[in-house]
Amino acid sequence: MTHITNTSFPYTFFHKKIVKTEEANVSIMTNALQYGTGVFGGMRGYYNHEKGFLSVFRMKDHYKRFLQSLQIVGVSFEFNQKELEEITLELISKNKPKTDTYFRPFAYTGSLNISPNLIREEPLDFALYMIPLGDYLPTDKGVTAMVSSWRRVSDNAIPSRVKASGSYFNSAMAKKEAMQNGYDDAIFLSENGHVAEGSAMNLFIVRDGVLITPPKSDDILEGITRRTVLQLAKDIGITVEERSIDRTELYIADEAFFCGTGAQVAWISHIDKRQVGNGKRGEIAGKLQDLFFSVVRGNEKKYASWCTKVKV
Ligand code: PMP
Repeated sequence: MTHITNTSFPYTFFHKKIVKTEEANVSIMTNALQYGTGVFGGMRGYYNHEKGFLSVFRMKDHYKRFLQSLQIVGVSFEFNQKELEEITLELISKNKPKTDTYFRPFAYTGSLNISPNLIREEPLDFALYMIPLGDYLPTDKGVTAMVSSWRRVSDNAIPSRVKASGSYFNSAMAKKEAMQNGYDDAIFLSENGHVAEGSAMNLFIVRDGVLITPPKSDDILEGITRRTVLQLAKDIGITVEERSIDRTELYIADEAFFCGTGAQVAWISHIDKRQVGNGKRGEIAGKLQDLFFSVVRGNEKKYASWCTKVKV
């Protein structure tokens, strides 16, 4: 069951301190609200009911990408990697989530300046909030996807490897089109016509036993789940290729799946009304999906370093 809630936990980090979530508000004139001049992250924590801990997945890597995004944008920011991790741990201990949780770090232009500008000297504001989050896309059945008529923003327009607020207008257009046409999600082609990714997730296909995903240079967000899946696949002996994918390869793939922090690993049953493989969860997608869930829940010793376990 897809389960999304917009109810935040009671506390949020805002204006350099932890406040009640209902007090974490901005003005209608906020620059980031008008122009999408923000950069954000999305991280998950998985709650272990028996042992009472939250396992935060690849926190270091998420904040590393977040800071790299800010470096690309070229703005100043007042928190470093260590401070961001500490803020997260402090917020967890305040909110004590007893459920699977999504973390949203957000650096944004909080000024009321009327021009669309990112001024190096004005540090971006920072907020971190948490919401309970189950599946974003179904993971217990196949999802359906359409190749979007919208192209993925190119790295030279709004840098695709930056998780920039403004670029999610592009995602929203594709998601809307897909849903209005009865599909669960969209697959973007890049401006040069190669398969890029989903509306807010990366994409893998399987052909003749080889796991294939678009390269980092095909206008994708460099997903941390994508990197995780590539590593897990290599570790269990699956051949992987990072190379450009043509649209028509989607129609003859044996298997396909989306992956991302929100999407987790969600296998695809149909693309543009063509059945993918036998229309069921494929062997490779299935193996990776099972292993992924075991890893993120902190049950695989070998990958323990990816999980920050916090008693709640
Ligand atoms: N692409 C886009 C456009 C996304 O929004 C996301 C979600 N952050 C991803 C890919 C997957 O990235 P990650 O695995 O780091 O969540």
